[in-house]
Amino acid sequence: MSTPDKTPPSHFIRQIITKDVSEGKNGGQVATRFPPEPNGFLHIGHAKSICLNFGLASEYDGTCNLRFDDTNPEKESDEYISAIKSDVEWLGFEWAGDIRYASSYFDKLHGYAVQLIEKGLAYVESLTADEMREYRGTLTEPGKNSPYRDRSIDENLDLFARMKAGEFDQGSMVLRAKIDMSSGNINMRDPVIYRILKVEHHQTGSDWCIYPMYDFTHCISDAIEGITHSVCTLEFEAHRPLYDWVLDALETPSHPQQIEFARLNLNYTITSKRKLKQLVDENVVSGWDDPRMPTIAGLRRRGYTSSSIRNFCEMIGVTKSDGTVDMGMLEFSIRDDLDKNAPRAMCVLQPLKVVIENYPADARETLSVSAHPKNEAMGVREIHFTKELYIDQNDFAEVPPPKFKRLIEGGEVRLRGSYVIKCNEVLKDADGNVIELRCSYDENTLGKKPEGRKVKGVVHWVSAETAVDAEVRMYDRLFTSENPDGDKEVSFLDVVNPESLVVLQGCKAEPGLAKAQPEKPYQFEREGYFVLDGKDASSDMLVFNRTVTLRDSWAKISG
Ligand code: ATP
Ligand code: MG
Repeated sequence: MSTPDKTPPSHFIRQIITKDVSEGKNGGQVATRFPPEPNGFLHIGHAKSICLNFGLASEYDGTCNLRFDDTNPEKESDEYISAIKSDVEWLGFEWAGDIRYASSYFDKLHGYAVQLIEKGLAYVESLTADEMREYRGTLTEPGKNSPYRDRSIDENLDLFARMKAGEFDQGSMVLRAKIDMSSGNINMRDPVIYRILKVEHHQTGSDWCIYPMYDFTHCISDAIEGITHSVCTLEFEAHRPLYDWVLDALETPSHPQQIEFARLNLNYTITSKRKLKQLVDENVVSGWDDPRMPTIAGLRRRGYTSSSIRNFCEMIGVTKSDGTVDMGMLEFSIRDDLDKNAPRAMCVLQPLKVVIENYPADARETLSVSAHPKNEAMGVREIHFTKELYIDQNDFAEVPPPKFKRLIEGGEVRLRGSYVIKCNEVLKDADGNVIELRCSYDENTLGKKPEGRKVKGVVHWVSAETAVDAEVRMYDRLFTSENPDGDKEVSFLDVVNPESLVVLQGCKAEPGLAKAQPEKPYQFEREGYFVLDGKDASSDMLVFNRTVTLRDSWAKISG
């Protein structure tokens, strides 16, 4: 007999940590960190790393730090820092203690660099960047030692001190680790560990004009914080020997273990901050939180819930081989959540006026309909039946296509949660556009089937009298190409989906939607899932964003 397994599916990182904990490594403790560089907003790929790092910490009763890896002051900013903090919080995670900054270790890092020089393991390089590149060799050819490699320890200490004091121009010198110019791993060919950058830093102001490089900073920051498992993406695999070399060379408080996993790639979008920034800078989108962006802020404004993103991250798993996840899976995760949890409402996107000829002009009936067909606990909502109504233009056809079940001239349809109506006459403007339907209602059909005939179609509708006006932004995937960045000849900017945003004005929403709140999505019956736009929440006009369609219209038709 088998019992259902309630523990989360295991993956290789869980296996490593479980073993470490059971063997009492690191005193049986687990400490992870999420180390973003504040040079852009976080995207869905970062969500995978966040869920993994914070998730592991909580599973093993450990801690997870949030540390800004801020070693490139030119590209970083406080704006990105606050966006990243709020994204991590919104995803539902809590970092241990205060926020950390690699920049708050600049003093210590400088001390460690001096230690390396004193050990004869680092030297000041005076070759130009171009010369250094020539000396570095290639994947197939070893590099050559720099003529400055054998400077004395004293000379190196003096030059490094003067670099720090600002005596030299930017680009004229760097500090390099002395490792092995003939290593098969190019990262080990005397990597640069400090460079001169005469720029202000968002955290340390003008305290420094030399800044440590990522590879030197990251491992030491991990060690200072007592991180046990330093989880990162696969591109750092070839940097691991350097991570270990630095920590072996120095007397750091600990030596964390770096473990790499495959980054998340998602089709029909881009997960690179640099390229997302290009979309922002070139005004292809309205900002980092444009609802089409795969950023956490964009997804949030689009109507994604944090639990749907966490579920998605659990669903895609953690592996050691790169692959691409179908956007359909992310959309599935939000549909699945909203199908269960979003209240239903009616909103007519492209209104067509309907006049009920046999209904009195001054009458109004209040109808109670369920907020969710499968969840009574969500209660009921009130809508109104009046003489003038709106249905969607798409729900009426003069020349119906085959199997059309909605309204036609002389035909009947049920208004959802209300009566059956019959179309008696079609009014048109001078150009032949249908502008109004003259209908009658059958008063014996409220909550009842009509007598002696079948009415198959059900359409959504609103009362013209009590509906509220809305603008609806129909968002779709940002790119038409599955791999927007996969073609060397075509820029990702040229495969932007021209229909990724279609704005509908003059939409008519049921009155309850006047109370809609950002981040509280609705299912607009028969149309999809929608949420009040967070940015325009205080404007006079209700603005809704389409989160996702009811069904996957992008799925490849197979068979
Ligand atoms: P980008 O290429 O988008 O700038 P990055 O790796 O440079 O991403 P960081 O801010 O350095 O961005 O990333 C912080 C953490 O998030 C790192 O540990 C990184 O490995 C992880 N991460 C970044 N992108 C992804 C991704 N697509 N999937 C999983 N983890 C990711
Ligand atoms: Mg990076």
